Amino acid sequence: MRCIECGFQSELDQKMITCPRCGGIMEISVKLPSSFSFSNLRGRGVWRYSQAIAGNYKKIISINEGGTPLIRTRTGKEVYFKFEGANPTGSFKDRGMTVAISSAVNEGYKIVVAASTGNTAASAAAYSARAGLRIYLVLPKDKVAIGKLAQSILYGATILEVEGSFDIGMKAVIKLYKEMGLVYPLNSFNPWRLEGQKTIAYEITEEIGVPDYVFVPVGNAGNIYAIWKGFSELMNLGIIDRIPRMVGVQAEGASPIAKAIINNQEAPQFVENPETIATAIRIGKPVNWKKAMKAIKESQGTAIYVNDAEIMEAQRELARTEGIGAEPASVASFAGYKKAIEQGWVDRDNKVVMILTGHSLKDPDSMIRSSARRIVVNPDHLENIILGDLNASS
Ligand SMILES: *Cc1c(COP(=O)(O)O)cnc(C)c1O
Ligand SMILES: [Zn+2]
Repeated sequence: MRCIECGFQSELDQKMITCPRCGGIMEISVKLPSSFSFSNLRGRGVWRYSQAIAGNYKKIISINEGGTPLIRTRTGKEVYFKFEGANPTGSFKDRGMTVAISSAVNEGYKIVVAASTGNTAASAAAYSARAGLRIYLVLPKDKVAIGKLAQSILYGATILEVEGSFDIGMKAVIKLYKEMGLVYPLNSFNPWRLEGQKTIAYEITEEIGVPDYVFVPVGNAGNIYAIWKGFSELMNLGIIDRIPRMVGVQAEGASPIAKAIINNQEAPQFVENPETIATAIRIGKPVNWKKAMKAIKESQGTAIYVNDAEIMEAQRELARTEGIGAEPASVASFAGYKKAIEQGWVDRDNKVVMILTGHSLKDPDSMIRSSARRIVVNPDHLENIILGDLNASS
């Protein structure tokens, strides 16, 4: 384990979450056994890759997360959607949560805490329930999509609401963790979570080999790093000979990392009041920005931003041409891909995977905003509508 701020190094220590010297973010480096081979693996989902997941797990808390569909576009091109909405609570957060909650249980914690824009909350609440842990969620008041809030309530979490943005909740959780060692934090500054999320890369590689590009919606920026880490580990072992270019996609009103990459700056300028309809990436101060910028640079990738109109259009297009429903933050990857094609730096013949991070049902309000024909009818004469349409189109 190594601190990305001060360089402090340690043997693997499952209790270690932030740097004991400076409080910075830790990286976990994993060396896969040289015998690692996809053909020897058993089971499906995150724990199929347990040889690659750092740490010891006497007990694993799992709800069969991972193993999500990689759906090829109907155009027949080598373009795929990794549908993370198919996870048990409807987002990729479950991949990280199974590892983090299992770690917490193995280390003897009884209380867990997370700040969240919603999906971490829903996932943490479900896994805590399964593990029998007490959970406190810190949510931005009135800023959480209704599906996610409803899940957190259903799974029985205690919900602490704060005025303002997610970033305020995140700061409060970091402070609590540092002052009160008995609570286990489940946010993505916890590097153990990313050990689970990296299995997205393992699944993609096992199914279709190495893509040219992977498009990832970026909020707190843990996931893009986790996916890059997965590909890097496979390359270091010689299982693959290159890694995909990682493309981070942010929402325009919350795009500190994309702007730093575009303007060639060393560090992002944080956004005080992030705004976007894509609430899961409505984050102004991404805690994992250093890790994300490393992943983007080392993969020779890039980052871009898309506006809310482009996000909503992408959500509709994905639903109405591919039959896939994803929440607004999730389709930032698709909106970003469309923009990259338009700008000409990605070709339609490139092999591309877009990560669709969460399910459309998470945010019903966003779906209902789409236009649809809804007609009050006489139930005895439905044929009038259809005949009228046929006439109009002939
Ligand atoms: C958490 C989340 C993201 C952002 O992931 P980060 O690791 O914070 O960058 C994107 N989309 C959805 C649906 C999420 O739940
Ligand atoms: Zn440090």
